[in-house]
Amino acid sequence: MAKRIVFIGSGACTLVSLRRIAEEAKKAGIDVEKIVITNDEYHYFPAFFPDVAFGEAEPDDVRAPVRNFTEEYGAKLYLDEVTRVDPANRVVETKSGKKFEYDYLFLCVGTRYGWEDYPGLKEASYHNYTLEGALELRKALGEFRGGDVIVLVPEFPHRCPGYPFEVLGRIVYHAKRRGVEARVKLVHVVPMDMALSHLFDLAVHWHQIHQEIGNIEYVMGKQLERVDPATKTIYFKNGETMKYNLLITAPPCRVPRFLEDSDFVFKKDPRFLETTFPTFRSRKYDDVFIPTDGAMPSVNLPFAGVPVHYAAIAAADTVLNELKGAAGPILFPDTITIVLDFAKTGVLVVFDTKEAPGGIAQTKPYIGLTHPMIKLLKYSFYAGWIKALKK
Ligand SMILES: Cc1cc2nc3c(=O)[nH]c(=O)nc-3n(C[C@H](O)[C@H](O)[C@H](O)COP(=O)(O)OP(=O)(O)OC[C@H]3O[C@@H](n4cnc5c(N)ncnc54)[C@H](O)[C@@H]3O)c2cc1C
Repeated sequence: MAKRIVFIGSGACTLVSLRRIAEEAKKAGIDVEKIVITNDEYHYFPAFFPDVAFGEAEPDDVRAPVRNFTEEYGAKLYLDEVTRVDPANRVVETKSGKKFEYDYLFLCVGTRYGWEDYPGLKEASYHNYTLEGALELRKALGEFRGGDVIVLVPEFPHRCPGYPFEVLGRIVYHAKRRGVEARVKLVHVVPMDMALSHLFDLAVHWHQIHQEIGNIEYVMGKQLERVDPATKTIYFKNGETMKYNLLITAPPCRVPRFLEDSDFVFKKDPRFLETTFPTFRSRKYDDVFIPTDGAMPSVNLPFAGVPVHYAAIAAADTVLNELKGAAGPILFPDTITIVLDFAKTGVLVVFDTKEAPGGIAQTKPYIGLTHPMIKLLKYSFYAGWIKALKK
């Protein structure tokens, strides 16, 4: 009988793992039943949301119907919200009352934005971490008449650690094009000495680009307490305050609600899910794989889409090997690259990656290349990803 693989979610994690399993199982002549359960009819490319915010892409450039790829790869699609996973009985339950049994489960649920721990933050700030958020930020940038723009990072790690650094120059350029002046401050929770010791090469290089652009300042090691939208004031835990004209944030990340009390939470840091490197199998349940970005911090990988891409392939290959009865190697690349748009130029960051004891990865980031062409590469990659999913 065909094994049933259930995928929860419809982001990069599901797309890449489903595609890999569908294509490789077909080649090997293995019959697999594939089910996708997601609470959104669209597949999004979130790394493209800043382009929507800056008016350089439209909503349909950054999303495609999930149905397009589930049909292409022979999966049944259920638009529903998962409310519970019962790993002991291999069952997924949904809001509409359905129950799905599985042989393998892919938890591709991403992350949840945890605004609730910082009073006023959600009301006061703009962000481009959802499409709706990006459209609101676009409007706010359009209405900005000059002044202090704060890019606030209240917690680390968060989704796409390079994003707050990327966006600084784009804000300055956007304001210049509109004939207003933006004094931009990155207010980051990580202290400068820690940033330098972990990211020396990157931090120094990025700072240099920002100095060339001008009007950009870093304020490091600030722990957020709350924000008052009425007076446009940020309150920090050490009693300091800071005023702003426009506040942009990288939201704090949390485990999706339905998994909060589950065995899939990373005990050392319950903001994240727990997975293993390099198979991305759950540490507790052999038939569950977690190659989604909200689990990347638990194995020391960047909290970003590029590692998710390779993780999804590694998890899919692990399942395929079991289905084939083969003990093939699971490959995660020795180097992964992330491309960043710094407005003035583009930066390609390389992470040398290897397996470390305890089922985690060890990474060493460095600057691979700085060139304006990288910006074009990034844009083409994002646009091509979504175009390939359009019918
Ligand atoms: C502003 C921004 C910039 C970024 N820049 C970069 C970059 O430059 N480089 C890079 O590599 N990465 C970048 N990223 C990160 C990258 O976009 C993510 O890592 C990647 O999209 C994660 O894919 P995923 O499938 O794991 O999660 P997601 O894409 O978040 O998918 C999660 C899915 O789960 C579904 N879901 C959640 N809960 C439920 C439920 N209860 N029931 C059913 N379905 C559910 C959601 O609807 C969604 O379809 C950026 C992200 C943002 C927001």
